[in-house]
Amino acid sequence: MVVDKPTDLLIHAGHALPLVGASVLTDAVIAVDNGTISYLGTAASAPRFAPSRTIHEPTGLVIPGLVNTHTHLAAHLWSTLCEDENIITALYEVWFPMEQYLTDEIVHCGGLLGLWDAVRSGVTTVANDEYFPDATARAVDKIGCRALIANRINEFPDARPPRYHRDRQEYELTFDRAKATNALDHNLELIDKWRNHGRVFPCLGPHAPDLLSTEMLRECSEAARLHDVKMLMHVAQSRAELAEVRRRGYKGSIAYLDDLGMVGPRLQGAHMVWLDDAEIDTAAASGMGMSWTPTIMMACESFAQIDRLLASGINIGFGTDCFGMDILEELRYALYAANYVRFEEPDSRLRAADVVRMATIGGARCLGLESVVGTIEVGKAADLAILNLSDPCFIPMTNAIEAIAYRARGRHVLYTIVGGDVIYEDGRLTHVDADRVLADAAAAGQEWIERSREILEGAGVAPRLRGSGSAWFP
Ligand SMILES: [Zn+2]
Repeated sequence: MVVDKPTDLLIHAGHALPLVGASVLTDAVIAVDNGTISYLGTAASAPRFAPSRTIHEPTGLVIPGLVNTHTHLAAHLWSTLCEDENIITALYEVWFPMEQYLTDEIVHCGGLLGLWDAVRSGVTTVANDEYFPDATARAVDKIGCRALIANRINEFPDARPPRYHRDRQEYELTFDRAKATNALDHNLELIDKWRNHGRVFPCLGPHAPDLLSTEMLRECSEAARLHDVKMLMHVAQSRAELAEVRRRGYKGSIAYLDDLGMVGPRLQGAHMVWLDDAEIDTAAASGMGMSWTPTIMMACESFAQIDRLLASGINIGFGTDCFGMDILEELRYALYAANYVRFEEPDSRLRAADVVRMATIGGARCLGLESVVGTIEVGKAADLAILNLSDPCFIPMTNAIEAIAYRARGRHVLYTIVGGDVIYEDGRLTHVDADRVLADAAAAGQEWIERSREILEGAGVAPRLRGSGSAWFP
């Protein structure tokens, strides 16, 4: 007699896109045991299962969970505050100064908000650097997703963040070694506390080559090696950074970091805009990961040399930075913008398959998680998103990869699953009370803005907010 095979979760969907090989599975069955994919195939060839839970979505498309390789989750609390300003002005005159008023509670509430936005758009893994990283790690633990979490280590005094004068392209930067040393110590405590969590991967967050002294960069690099962790870092993100690195005697940030021995598989660099061809080759050959952040870079009036970067073979994933968390939106902007800005040869263009891979296995590789997530394969963690193809955007469905790249939005996500745990379904998070998250985040945002009132008045943001629906500047 044939005995049905007990299994924790059985997914039976219209289609699955394993991203292993080129094929899309039709009438797909995925079984999950102990958080791991134990079977993948078609319904016709599947054994009989006796599942504890079944998800049956005849019009569903199962994809690997999306990976957002560069986030600042609590920045959600910052949205609509000064998005109409030039982003560089906003960053240096509002965001950096306001960060001194963050608290553990504010970061935790902002983290939950940001993760909610990520998870509802099919993101299962994020990589986040921010102050109060333990608060973010707790938010990740609660929501149920997967994350690399780093403390933000920089050396500028809290009360005197760097100032960049765009008109003169001049940079005012002072350093406070004690602050950076404290931040590194704090980061090491985080690593100690979360090292064995399973879904939270603590790592180091040296902020950027210009925002730390050479000595502190060396210390961070040595600590990453000693503790065997990744480094999440902004690299070649601005003209200001390039000017500072040149002042230190290097042609660019990768040349500088390479001289310090920091360029290698341990490094995950976000942005990577201001690089020359030789630096791109160095970065690619080193095995480092790159987080491509097209939207925020366009807001900064710059764009990574994506044609050169792709040709170099560097590991590329997508990051949204502080511009929302929806990777599906990001990959569409990436497609259109890259083909407009960079690809001049008609045969050489960014294609749907490129960006879908970048948003999944590319991101996983970029974070060193390619053996765990990024594709749907037996033995890998069951980190999955299920999209609803029964929607005006997808009828008739002729090409799953193009459907994702050109049409899918967060609203099409039916389920987000991490390690076999359904953390989002029916439009709601399963492990936290959404009303509570909203209420707490509103209170935290209010507290942060109150604490930053002087900065917002000084930077000229407050007058613009008066009468614009802001609760704090009526
Ligand atoms: Zn960033």
